[in-house]
Amino acid sequence: MKKTFYTIVIFFMFSVLLTAGNRQFDKDTIKTGGGDLDITFLGHGTLMFNFNKAVIYVDPFSRVADFSELPRADLILITHHHGDHMDLAAIKPIRQEKTVIIGTQKCVPQVEGCIVMNNGDEKTAAGLKIEAAPAYNILHKRESGEPFHVKGEGNGYIITFGDKRVYVAGDTENIPEMKGLKNIAVAFLPMNLPYTMTPEMTAEAAKGFRPAILYPYHYTDTDTSRLKELLKNEKDIEVRIRTLYPPLPGKS
Ligand code: ZN
Ligand code: ZN
Repeated sequence: MKKTFYTIVIFFMFSVLLTAGNRQFDKDTIKTGGGDLDITFLGHGTLMFNFNKAVIYVDPFSRVADFSELPRADLILITHHHGDHMDLAAIKPIRQEKTVIIGTQKCVPQVEGCIVMNNGDEKTAAGLKIEAAPAYNILHKRESGEPFHVKGEGNGYIITFGDKRVYVAGDTENIPEMKGLKNIAVAFLPMNLPYTMTPEMTAEAAKGFRPAILYPYHYTDTDTSRLKELLKNEKDIEVRIRTLYPPLPGKS
């Protein structure tokens, strides 16, 4: 009887351990003229920003975290409609009445109340200036010849926190429009292959607009140390490598 009791207790503790609690996420704090910006690296292409009590998510994806344990969102930015970027299972637990969701035209049929931003649009949401930038492929294509990301369909976002402009590029290559980016304090550039950029393309992109801090993100198993090596002589670009866990097993 006693043995059965202990077996049940141990089994129960084990299942709690397995189901509850998120992984230990990497975090960084960036000083801005308007207060601290806290960045949480949730995994894959998913980021959380905390700034002046506002909670902002970019591309919340249910396979990187248990979103029911994370703070509710003031603003959710969706870069494009692919399942690891637009995921209702992640949006649902963080969405509240006042949450503003910004996405693309292709997100509208699935995400209720989604506000569309097209490339080049500007808006204020959760008290922050948001700019939508282009995000697309030039070289990397499907077997059909169609780019993985078609020009005009996806967004990168430039979010202004205090006096710091933060660029989250979305799924893109080193497109010519990046050279026109000005005064970027922090950039997140994707290296998820074959869908986005190699370390070489990422380094070229960074040299085009020279962010003060560069985080490779959405990199899956691409070698981040190669990017560091490629940019080691660019003293004004600080490459920071942070852990972005690959998605947990699951569907989608
Ligand atoms: Zn994509
Ligand atoms: Zn992606």
